[in-house]
Amino acid sequence: MKGQTSKIESIYQQVIDRNPGETEFHQAVREVLDSLEPVIMKYPKYADHRIIERICEPERQIIFRVPWTDDKGNIHINRGFRVEFNSALGPYKGGLRFHESVYLGIIKFLGFEQIFKNALTGMPIGGGKGGSDFNPKGRSDAEIMRFCQSFMTELYRHLGEYTDVPAGDIGVGGREIGYMFGQYKRITNRYEAGVLTGKGLSWGGSLVRTEATGYGAVYFVNEMLKTKKDSFEGKTCVVSGSGNVAIYTVEKINHLGGKVVAMSDSNGYIYDKRGVDLSLVKQLKEVERRRIKDYCDTYKGATYVEGGNIWEVPCQVAMPSATQNELDEKDAEMLVKNGCIAVGEGANMPTTPEGTKVFLNAGVLFGPGKAANAGGVATSALEMQQNASRDSWTFEYTEKRLHEIMIGIHKACYEQSAEFGQPGNYILGANIASFRKVADAMISQGLI
Ligand code: GLU
Repeated sequence: MKGQTSKIESIYQQVIDRNPGETEFHQAVREVLDSLEPVIMKYPKYADHRIIERICEPERQIIFRVPWTDDKGNIHINRGFRVEFNSALGPYKGGLRFHESVYLGIIKFLGFEQIFKNALTGMPIGGGKGGSDFNPKGRSDAEIMRFCQSFMTELYRHLGEYTDVPAGDIGVGGREIGYMFGQYKRITNRYEAGVLTGKGLSWGGSLVRTEATGYGAVYFVNEMLKTKKDSFEGKTCVVSGSGNVAIYTVEKINHLGGKVVAMSDSNGYIYDKRGVDLSLVKQLKEVERRRIKDYCDTYKGATYVEGGNIWEVPCQVAMPSATQNELDEKDAEMLVKNGCIAVGEGANMPTTPEGTKVFLNAGVLFGPGKAANAGGVATSALEMQQNASRDSWTFEYTEKRLHEIMIGIHKACYEQSAEFGQPGNYILGANIASFRKVADAMISQGLI
């Protein structure tokens, strides 16, 4: 046992040494490695094939210049990234993030997470991630288009429906995917629908893709609640964020009889004790691209807390759906004290390691992002299936598939957590179930 612990510690140390300053990547690796000791004890083949060391090193990393002009004719230069992390299970798959905080360490943490998340879906997709430090806030439609075209002018040569298939993430939605798809088609002269997911419905997109991450996260939490003979019915919930994931998390909570009393953006949070009016949020965020505080201009009964911490709002279910490390140890303690019984991560790595510990020690049901938010990428894989068969499915059928996939992910995580002696520890279960799947495929495919 001791030997394996020190082996894992030395692998982790190597990751830090080889990737200096990439703190988010280190954090994501640490979280997975912390679960793996019992697996490499039980199955020596993983250590023999040096699978952990190989998984922590991306297959390929691409960094490129993205030059573009703003509406006044000024030239800007951003940096673009695509990390093709692991293709053991299928073509690299994962979103693109456009946000000023983006650098290699963020893309690598997201790409690393994506390997395991994608494996959990049971679909044939490898892991990758990309993006840029471009800040889309306040940019005109024409500027966004020129940026996306420039970004794709370099990225296209690395993509393909059998090679690498990007989608959206923070700052990249249907509009951006459209501009990038147009540029890909123009450069390659191929209508290769399966090269990007999150497309518009009339040109190869899938119904339910927009809703999928949020709906899936709620389905996952619902499965966790079921293990305690509980449900969303009558529960007070808090959902951080007000982007695509948060909006459809709220929608599905409403369908299942829960009530969401608070949502947020990077400036502050709104509190509406009668339950957030989702059609108003959709109008503000999806149509008018405004801030969450404008909610209170329309509905005076709600309050806006500028710079406030949304986790101070008491709730039974918390769904962090904004960004990484948005919920720390103090927030977790506050949530537990206020009666929180379940947490589902809609965002990628939104809870800090210390926050996670608080939840696990308090016996809170905790659905880690790589399991709970896998519905988005799973539905991307369903979009790829439809593209490959030149078909398009109904909303009902696609949602049914998504629901079955989320039930399957929950089951796989639960079973693995039980096999390794900690039933209901979904972090352990998710890491082990996905690691084994990827690792076995890597061993079968030889040393590559
Ligand atoms: N960005 C999403 C995620 O974090 C979706 C990726 C995709 O659909 O490829 O999983």
